[in-house]
Amino acid sequence: MIVPAYIKTDELNNKIAATILDPYYKYYHLSYAEAIKIETSFWQKVQLVSLNDKNEVCGYFKGEWARPENYINSITTVNFDKDNPGLFARDIINFFKYLLFELEVKKIKFDSVLDNPARIHYDKLVENLGGRVIGIEKYEHLINDKYHDSKLYEIINDRWECDNCKYTVKQKNGDIYRKCKKCKIGKMIYKNPFN
Ligand SMILES: [Zn+2]
Repeated sequence: MIVPAYIKTDELNNKIAATILDPYYKYYHLSYAEAIKIETSFWQKVQLVSLNDKNEVCGYFKGEWARPENYINSITTVNFDKDNPGLFARDIINFFKYLLFELEVKKIKFDSVLDNPARIHYDKLVENLGGRVIGIEKYEHLINDKYHDSKLYEIINDRWECDNCKYTVKQKNGDIYRKCKKCKIGKMIYKNPFN
């Protein structure tokens, strides 16, 4: 389950502090481990935590807004429960779906350290959400005195919508949709939030 981070501020910062000396988390901390400043509104950053079934914080997700463009231009995620990657992987998807389908974010742009083993989650996620890889940026992040390349991604929130029942499908792979498969009478119309 994902909930706003500000209702779990102390627990979240304790979890972050506990990861600082663990090399597993170096791709999150980079070279300047710092406490999280948690906002009480989503105006500048969308900050959510993942909770397990005991109501404990097991993951953190942040998306930062570009202003005045009004899209998300940075994403940060961290999994505190290394032994239970399944729950985290599920909640990353929920986080992106919340941004795209609830907040109606027009575009999400972000990067991940190329050597980060967790990056494969982003590859799959971006493909499933109809995004694309922008490319590789050389020597972007400094981690413990070594520069690492980063992989850049973007997801445009374009979709097909039924003109009758409003059933929507995320645009991906250049696919074209004609008739609505839900109501079977509506016509699917392509919608791009930038047009
Ligand atoms: Zn329909």
